[in-house]
Amino acid sequence: MADQVPQNGGIAGFGHGSPTADPVVYIRVVLLKQLGIIGQLGRFHPRDGQIGETAHDQVHFAGTPVPAAENQAFPQAAELCIGTVWHGHRNSFPLVPAEVRTKRSQNSQQLHLRKPVRPQILFPLFAALDKLPGLGPRLSKLAAKLCGEHVVDLLWHLPVSIIDRRASPSLALAENGAIITLKVKVEWHQKPAHRRQPYRVRCSDGSGFIDLVFFNARDDWLEKNLPVGEWRAISGRVERFGSELNMVHPDHIAPAEDLEKLQGLEPVYPLTTGLPAKTLRKAIEAALTRAPELPEWIDPAVLQRGRWPDWRVALAAVHHPEAGTDLLPQTPARQRLAYDELLANQLALALVRQQNRALVGRPSQGDGQLRERVLAALPYSLTASQSQAMAEIAADMALPNRMLRLLQGDVGSGKTVVALLAMLIAVEAGGQAALLAPTDILARQHFAGLQPLAAAAGVEIALLTGRDKGKARDALLARLANGEIKLVVGTHALVQEDVAFDDLRLAVVDEQHRFGVQQRVALAAKGRGVDLLVMTATPIPRTLMLTGYGDIDVSRLTEKPPGRQPIATRTLPLDRLDEVAESLRRAITGGARIYWVCPLVDESEVVDLAAATERHRHLGQIFGDRVGLVHGQQKAAERDRTMAAFAAGEIDILVATTVIEVGVNVPEATVMVIEHAERFGLAQLHQLRGRVGRGTGKSSCLLLYQAPLGETAKARLSILRETEDGFRIAEEDLRLRGGGELLGTRQSGLPEFRLADLTAHGDLLSMARDDAKLILERDSDLLSPRGEALRILLYLFQRDAMIKTLRSG
Ligand code: ADP
Ligand code: MG
Repeated sequence: MADQVPQNGGIAGFGHGSPTADPVVYIRVVLLKQLGIIGQLGRFHPRDGQIGETAHDQVHFAGTPVPAAENQAFPQAAELCIGTVWHGHRNSFPLVPAEVRTKRSQNSQQLHLRKPVRPQILFPLFAALDKLPGLGPRLSKLAAKLCGEHVVDLLWHLPVSIIDRRASPSLALAENGAIITLKVKVEWHQKPAHRRQPYRVRCSDGSGFIDLVFFNARDDWLEKNLPVGEWRAISGRVERFGSELNMVHPDHIAPAEDLEKLQGLEPVYPLTTGLPAKTLRKAIEAALTRAPELPEWIDPAVLQRGRWPDWRVALAAVHHPEAGTDLLPQTPARQRLAYDELLANQLALALVRQQNRALVGRPSQGDGQLRERVLAALPYSLTASQSQAMAEIAADMALPNRMLRLLQGDVGSGKTVVALLAMLIAVEAGGQAALLAPTDILARQHFAGLQPLAAAAGVEIALLTGRDKGKARDALLARLANGEIKLVVGTHALVQEDVAFDDLRLAVVDEQHRFGVQQRVALAAKGRGVDLLVMTATPIPRTLMLTGYGDIDVSRLTEKPPGRQPIATRTLPLDRLDEVAESLRRAITGGARIYWVCPLVDESEVVDLAAATERHRHLGQIFGDRVGLVHGQQKAAERDRTMAAFAAGEIDILVATTVIEVGVNVPEATVMVIEHAERFGLAQLHQLRGRVGRGTGKSSCLLLYQAPLGETAKARLSILRETEDGFRIAEEDLRLRGGGELLGTRQSGLPEFRLADLTAHGDLLSMARDDAKLILERDSDLLSPRGEALRILLYLFQRDAMIKTLRSG
């Protein structure tokens, strides 16, 4: 495909016609750069003149970023025709689908091609932090790491406690450990004799003496700020040794007349090393003074009901707590700010939804023949929820809209066969389907599982991974492009640029607990109106589902195939490792195969690897050479060999780091040992445990922990003992740790909130969701005065990309 883009605006088109397929024209539009539109890659079908995909349209799964969406703005409401060269003929067709055009025809003479620009009123909030007093280049970097890079991020950084500086006893009465604030006279300075000794400044208040104690302080600074004979206001914690009073590094030293300013309640913020509390507080104060008055975006009735203050007042209130109760999530000010954040989240999702509805898809409907053959070949019949999910998917695919569906099901619930049946619908309808797996191992495993079934249906299936190279790969690609191969399973290798399909109708993305938005989008772009099915084993609690997916369509596999045995789960302190080894010996004698998952020592794989290597050596001493090791740093071939040996029963114990997907399906494996289970997220433990209990043998899972365990850690591990229901585990984890902490969901790319706390503000979330829906029903382009205010809200929470979907006002 040629690629010629005019330098300073204009339109370029290039033809690409494959001999067998309908001609598809690729167009790159570089529209009027001076108006701020950068460029867009789109696909057009010249026959119907409708828009198929644009990168920006593919914001399917909301809340998750789309690569370079910023640069792929869709020129809204442009009544604009573009010319293309197609098979040497000149074509021109409208850029905007007919129905959109009619609706927007009043604007037909006008081009609204502005790139959305952040409203001026918000500029001060999006200034860089080094513009704030006290934050130089070094400290502003630390603050940015802690809070975020803009002034507004400081406003979102809320205090977690308060220091009460109102007590002002005389020195004679000051109690050990108390925070006191008072006026003192500087008597004399005692400089240290050695470097290790502190610098002392003796002060008095008439009732007694106190030594201000400084380590590693600069003499000149102390002499300047605490001149002998003068009065100063100081505040800090006192230590009393008999009649001697010390104050180590006073929190405040100020001119005497500032005493009253110090005697109040002081908010305490989460900090990072190197950033002094005082500096951060001062910067936050400055940020508060820069917060502009903003138009109200919350419905007046809602404001009134909760007695919520307006935005600026709420900010001032949360940063100036007057009592401990002001720090609770239920205060009107905190509720209001949480609602702002949730409303921005839900409105953005609703906008994506609104846009997705207008997406052009293609109906895929089959005669069911291929599916029948597979069902006949299966050694089992589908569970009720598998059949239900199939019906939902088939109905969706038959519609002319694009399918965007999430298939959610616990490990082992049987998602793979559902995916295959969905893929066969695409084939029955005359097209192709692809399954994208996150790792090589999983792609191979899917392929191995699907191949016999596809064969039963008489459909050719291929595997494409990064390991395919050269001529064989070229041949495979050619057969994909000409449509000979109907089904393909692969890794990210599938989304490489030179992989083309004859007619890709369905993309299935198996994300396990790893979301790869970029790849998902890239795969969908390889066809026209491609239906998308995302499979996830992450049990996402309903509340989080709402924040990340809005009301996206979800099919859930709620039951496991029959005949599964429960997995006996036990927790055991690590110091009983010897007993564990002993019971493993007995299990191995009985024919068991064992996974041993090594601790998540660090974020770094190197450290994890060291621990796994050490465990492998240790177990090798006990069990000899029937212990294997797999980890992410190995060559793929070596890893495969070890996996295969484990599957074949040539080794009994497979030691693994978690960085590699332990997603192998070895039904004979019946024991899962997880070291340092307390360091894992519950969702992840649940996933790991799901690797056993896949066959007919009785399975067990040993969670080894480092004693002593805290209350929460104990509660978390005991949930695993109690239940195997992934959804319940996720709900409990959410309850115990709060949304952002959930390991499985952090990986899933769900948004984390700064102001809202989902465990406390769950009711606000559903309110925000209903509100967002209503808002768009009444004012789909946010053009009313409240709509204008809501646009500001979207900018405030950096949902700029969403604003591009709106007609400009
Ligand atoms: P998931 O991908 O959801 O973790 P799989 O699709 O790998 O689960 O299925 C797990 C196992 O269950 C596979 O061995 C599969 O053959 C089997 N299986 C799937 N559906 C059924 C069913 N309805 N009845 C019995 N076994 C099933
Ligand atoms: Mg699976």
